[in-house]
Amino acid sequence: MGAMRKVLNWYARLSPSRGKTSPPYEHVVQIGDPRLRKVSDPVPVDKIKSEEVQKVINKLRLVLHKYGSVGMSAPQIGVNMRMFVMRHTAKQISAVPPEIAKSKGMSVVPFTVFINPKIKVVDYQKVIYMEGCESVQGYSAEVPRYREVEVTGYDENGESATRVFKLWPARIAQHEMDHLDGKMFTDLMERRTLTCACWEEVNLSKGKVVIPFNPE
Ligand SMILES: [Zn+2]
Repeated sequence: MGAMRKVLNWYARLSPSRGKTSPPYEHVVQIGDPRLRKVSDPVPVDKIKSEEVQKVINKLRLVLHKYGSVGMSAPQIGVNMRMFVMRHTAKQISAVPPEIAKSKGMSVVPFTVFINPKIKVVDYQKVIYMEGCESVQGYSAEVPRYREVEVTGYDENGESATRVFKLWPARIAQHEMDHLDGKMFTDLMERRTLTCACWEEVNLSKGKVVIPFNPE
């Protein structure tokens, strides 16, 4: 184990708002934050249209877009409510080599909000691929996931909605669902596959590389 280094935080020290942020955040909290380990609370259905809940939905959408992610859950922006958003755009998929997108079963998913979701496994066969998380910035690992699941919950208007997801979208849904129960992909990963996404860059730059915790 190495010496703990002080976190460089020049920008925060310059900012007059340091220490004054409150959730829902416009950044993603990182593993170690106790809120990522809580079982989140259900949202009362009659509160879905309330200002408080709609604010969290809007922040989830904002942070999802800002980070260019495919899924984001409320605990990741510091709110222990049972809700997550997901999407996978044609543009995001086109950034992946077509043969890989095909083998992983990637397909376009429109922006979808799930509130109080329940997940049902449709196909118990598991598929193993590398997976990452905005709350474990800079790292990824192989994670087994069910091939097909059905998610039932409420949408942003308080209407009940059911969606069936296969392969990659099923992986996204299972990953986000786990966040609502305080689980992280690191709990399920094949431990020996944990990889720092920039390990090659570390060598090329002689260690002078930083992992950004905010894409802005
Ligand atoms: Zn995650």
